[in-house]
Amino acid sequence: MSEKVKILINGAFIESKATEHLPVENPANREVLAEVPLTLLSEIDEAIEFATEAFKTWKEYTIPERARLFLSYQHLLKQHQKEIAEILSKENGKTFADAMGDVWRGIEVVEHACNIPTLMMGETVENVARAVDTYSYIQPLGVCVGITPFNFPAMIPLWMFPMAIACGNTFILKPSEQTPMTAIKLAELFIEAGFPKGVLNVVHGSKDQVNHILNHSEIRAISFVGSVPVAEHVYRTGTHNLKRVQAFGGAKNHMVVMPDANKQQVINNLVGASCGAAGQRCMAISVAVLVGEAQNWVEEIKSALGTIKPGVWSDESAAYGPLINQQSKEKVLRLIKSGYEQGAEVLLDGSNCTVEGYENGYFVGPTLFSNVSADMDIYKEEIFGPALLLMKADTLDEAIKIINNNPYGNGTSIFTNSGAAARKFQHEIEVGQIGINIPIPVPLPFFSFTGWRKSFFGDLHSYGKQGVRFYTETKTITARWFEEDVPGGNVNMTIALK
Ligand code: NAD
Repeated sequence: MSEKVKILINGAFIESKATEHLPVENPANREVLAEVPLTLLSEIDEAIEFATEAFKTWKEYTIPERARLFLSYQHLLKQHQKEIAEILSKENGKTFADAMGDVWRGIEVVEHACNIPTLMMGETVENVARAVDTYSYIQPLGVCVGITPFNFPAMIPLWMFPMAIACGNTFILKPSEQTPMTAIKLAELFIEAGFPKGVLNVVHGSKDQVNHILNHSEIRAISFVGSVPVAEHVYRTGTHNLKRVQAFGGAKNHMVVMPDANKQQVINNLVGASCGAAGQRCMAISVAVLVGEAQNWVEEIKSALGTIKPGVWSDESAAYGPLINQQSKEKVLRLIKSGYEQGAEVLLDGSNCTVEGYENGYFVGPTLFSNVSADMDIYKEEIFGPALLLMKADTLDEAIKIINNNPYGNGTSIFTNSGAAARKFQHEIEVGQIGINIPIPVPLPFFSFTGWRKSFFGDLHSYGKQGVRFYTETKTITARWFEEDVPGGNVNMTIALK
């Protein structure tokens, strides 16, 4: 019988009493690595109760104490980076190099959390009236929640709980049921770093567990990353229950290729940005809009894309790994078929891809479509596979119009040697993350990660999943420091009620 993935409640890694479990598969060969419990709702309630209790003491830890614990956590994550990456590669399928990057991007957020003393600074203004000053404090909210997808099993949980906890909140993490083992490893190191019990809790499951959390009265804020339909559901339900919600959804990211760009640079970047991680990145480039003369580069794009091969995580020559599961593979194959039916030209078809020794794996070869129009299913749906769509535009204006009409607005990029074209693009494009001669412009943690239209549902609090503002509330104090007519009078910091 395979190992059961533990849950973490109040500092203890325990086996859930759940009667239902889902297999955690290695997508390269379908080997069952472990079984993940559909955590009992009563166990989730218990985790939330402990987190509520832990909040009372955790928020009173001094800010330097909190920062120091994150320094220890950063150190442990770095020490164990390879071990985490191996667990991650096995359950997610991505190559080891890619998995190391996944963990590293998460470590960077932990490093950002070490800066919590300065991040939590409020604002002050002296003399708003005679002998009256105003200043603000940033304070934690209470119990916060993170619900994460399968495609970045380390980075995305680490986008969430370190910042929330550094702010003084306690946290319930519900990682993807497809990649729960990485999350538990991250949690083990968190406990080893010395954080008090109840500050981070990890529960597993899917729809029912998420819905229970969304409706729980003690939860103050919810961070979600995943597909658009679930992001919409989490946002609607969470806000209906008057919780603070930031929900990041899916994407369809375009790269505009101007004819004055460096052709070889464009081609190299297109290959990695479209098929890297089997196209299972929310920031993957899935559409290249070729402007003017760049439309003559199709054959070269095809031959570059045609040379890369998927493989198992430990194969250093593999460009990318398998898709996450059978359902994802079926979706990609259905969309490839629809490309033929709806009139796209299929220049490369990865449907019948096998990897020697891993014939069972969910592999799809690099796939390339040209003559794509906006009414085709391959354009309308997020493929989330190693596929690139080529579209044509006569001008930059036309390319910008295509992108701004797309229902998603996560990432985009332009490749050009013209400053004027780049400036126009960054100004007029309506997308969250923009790259100029950079294919996947994921900002570092001290910037906000955002999204427009269906790629992000949130409000003004949500200026970034890494930002402290989402996980805190501000308190503004106006203080009269002296009795007005008593020069040098007492210096009581009383809140002025006048
Ligand atoms: P998903 O929406 O299937 O699952 C995400 C989380 O929601 C999981 O924890 C899952 O258990 C839970 N969930 C699934 N169905 C649910 C339901 N009906 N009700 C409540 N909860 C449910 O997403 P996924 O397949 O794991 O991840 C891939 C998606 O995530 C892609 O669409 C990708 O673009 C998106 N993504 C977006 C970003 C971003 O920053 N915008 C980053 C990474 C991934």
